[in-house]
Amino acid sequence: MQIVLWFVLMLVSVSWVFLLVKYRAELKAIFCEKVLSRPVIIFESDDWGAGDFGQDASLRRIKLILENCRLQGGYHPVFVLGVNLFSPCVSGDSLAMPRKIKFVGLADVESSNTLAALLEVHHSGLMPLELHGKYHFDPSEAEEYLLDSNVGVEPDAAIMTEELPPSIQTRWKSEGLESKLDASSEVSVFFDVLGVEPQVVIPPTFVWNDSVEDGWKEAGMLTLMTPGSRYYSRIGNDFFCDKEHIYNGLYSHSGLMCLVRNAYFEPYKGVSVSACLLQIKQAVECGRPVIIETHRWNYLNPDKEICENSFSLLEQLLGKVSTLYPDLVSLSSAHLSKLYRSNGLIFNASFLVKLDSFYNRLGCSTVNNWLLWFSGVLPSLLFLRHLIRISKNAGLSDPKYV
Ligand SMILES: [Zn+2]
Repeated sequence: MQIVLWFVLMLVSVSWVFLLVKYRAELKAIFCEKVLSRPVIIFESDDWGAGDFGQDASLRRIKLILENCRLQGGYHPVFVLGVNLFSPCVSGDSLAMPRKIKFVGLADVESSNTLAALLEVHHSGLMPLELHGKYHFDPSEAEEYLLDSNVGVEPDAAIMTEELPPSIQTRWKSEGLESKLDASSEVSVFFDVLGVEPQVVIPPTFVWNDSVEDGWKEAGMLTLMTPGSRYYSRIGNDFFCDKEHIYNGLYSHSGLMCLVRNAYFEPYKGVSVSACLLQIKQAVECGRPVIIETHRWNYLNPDKEICENSFSLLEQLLGKVSTLYPDLVSLSSAHLSKLYRSNGLIFNASFLVKLDSFYNRLGCSTVNNWLLWFSGVLPSLLFLRHLIRISKNAGLSDPKYV
């Protein structure tokens, strides 16, 4: 009997050592992230901005879809737009006029329809504008590529970022004072062009570094969108990560509030309603906000069939979500960040409900399941979840909505 006890004790101890050595950062993220008391959803759509390309029609169509969807209390879903301020443009394409690259800005005449539409949808309150970048690429790298390619054969027309190869769609590849100043300046350019003070920044392709982050912070930005990790470098299509397990509500090294995108709605890639609903379900069960990434390429694709399909599926998704989650709240990322900073009432303070969410978070983490069992973490959480059910059956108030 004593041998069995020693064996169990050793197994528990070894499991804890492994958990703390290998999974400490992930476990910390799971247990430190606040638990929401009701489903919160945010759509975030990147890459809108300089150049016309018919963006005005697509933006107004999305706005109409949002207006036609009513959530509890008569509110509408919020669809945040990540805006780029400049697009490349090729002029001259002949022996007499060799190719030259310039950059078309959102304030230029080539973008006048888009600018008007962006301001219109922003001021409707349904599609707030946030900073994606002054450029979605390193300007010198884009120029070098475009001088040697056939992209932009139509002279003097802006080129959509999506037409550039993915490997050069990254803006921040180097650290240092120059990058910091460039990051700060894009915040003031955003305000000069749009008359809107951005609060949230979405780093293009999620590659950024400390200098860039310091620049954004010093320019007044408050919130940083992340995929839960930070990529500090990119070579070709290889990304290099230096920070993992970023969670909602975590302050970055420069003091920006981090939020984490955790769902995708990209019909042009085949990520449609059912796949998105599964991700929404998982996030809600984990007590996390659902922050859905959906690029403009779905709604501004050269293939009109893809666009029509995306609009239709967005309508379907909103309809299903509002039915499945009648107590759903849709916020802007800036608003959600403010709630995290002020510890607003949207968070659940019930200890037992937190444990319920932590159990679900562990279920979708990379932490080894056997270690969780042998260490006693899962059995303890299961026992406490059982207590929650007993309290519900005893007629106590539903702790999920305390
Ligand atoms: Zn982008």
